[in-house]
Amino acid sequence: MQTFKTAKSILELSEKLRQEGQTIGFVPTMGALHEGHISLIKKAREANDIVVCSVFVNPSQFNESADFENYPRTLESDIKQLKSADCDFVFAPPTDEVFPEKDTAEYELGEVARELEGAHRPGHFNGVASVVKRLLELVNPHRAYFGLKDYQQYAVIKALVKRYKMDVDIVGCEIVRERSGLAMSSRNIRLSNGGRDTALALYRSLREAQSALRAGKTVAQAESAGRVILKMVPVDLEYFEIRNRSDLSQPAEKTDNLIALVAARVEGIRLIDNLFLNME
Ligand code: AMP
Repeated sequence: MQTFKTAKSILELSEKLRQEGQTIGFVPTMGALHEGHISLIKKAREANDIVVCSVFVNPSQFNESADFENYPRTLESDIKQLKSADCDFVFAPPTDEVFPEKDTAEYELGEVARELEGAHRPGHFNGVASVVKRLLELVNPHRAYFGLKDYQQYAVIKALVKRYKMDVDIVGCEIVRERSGLAMSSRNIRLSNGGRDTALALYRSLREAQSALRAGKTVAQAESAGRVILKMVPVDLEYFEIRNRSDLSQPAEKTDNLIALVAARVEGIRLIDNLFLNME
């Protein structure tokens, strides 16, 4: 497995691979890799000749400088894990290789980017759009893999690719959870043991909403049921919402196409999770 650090080298690599007729699967990450990330690499491995993973902590998507500074950076261990997962190439550039100049563009991402994470993290999705667009231009993959753990991000990236007519398939991959139900996240390593227990309430609240809907409650009642779970533990809730899965709009009625999404801080660490709400 080879590691690239410069924009020029990764661009040359993708051009060469394209000329050879090889299909490229791309997994963008911010490192501190865990099984969730590795599941994306495996998906990419199944469907492409070549797998490229990027490890880049993108400053422009952090709306709090402390969050950016405290974000875990574990490149050596990341590289080991990627090797074991049979990844072919890693792109781990310094910031000025990705952004030689600050990207000041305002990306048109539509309604899907406005609420939830968009409202609670101003500028976040613009930063995500900026880095994903740039990375897709450099790696030029046939398919790019994103976790449904960040469901709104997945929806925003689909909107980005459509709006800017980028020729790449965006593939959404299922959430990988610990046995306890906690969604895997690079941020979990910053939680104490007690914090991990508390964080389980996020998944519990999502399941509670699901049970409520299945038991015949309305969407509003199911939201309340989820929120109640989070009131019983020491978390700072940012939102708990049930939305339409297709565009994250507010549901006018109960359908089989809903998703519950939650964001909360545990020990000051911001965690998100979601669950597709199936009626059976
Ligand atoms: P990050 O390094 O947090 O930016 O995540 C890189 C990619 O891995 C994103 O597409 C995430 O949605 C995905 N990802 C992170 N955690 C998980 C998880 N627990 N299950 C599935 N995908 C995940």
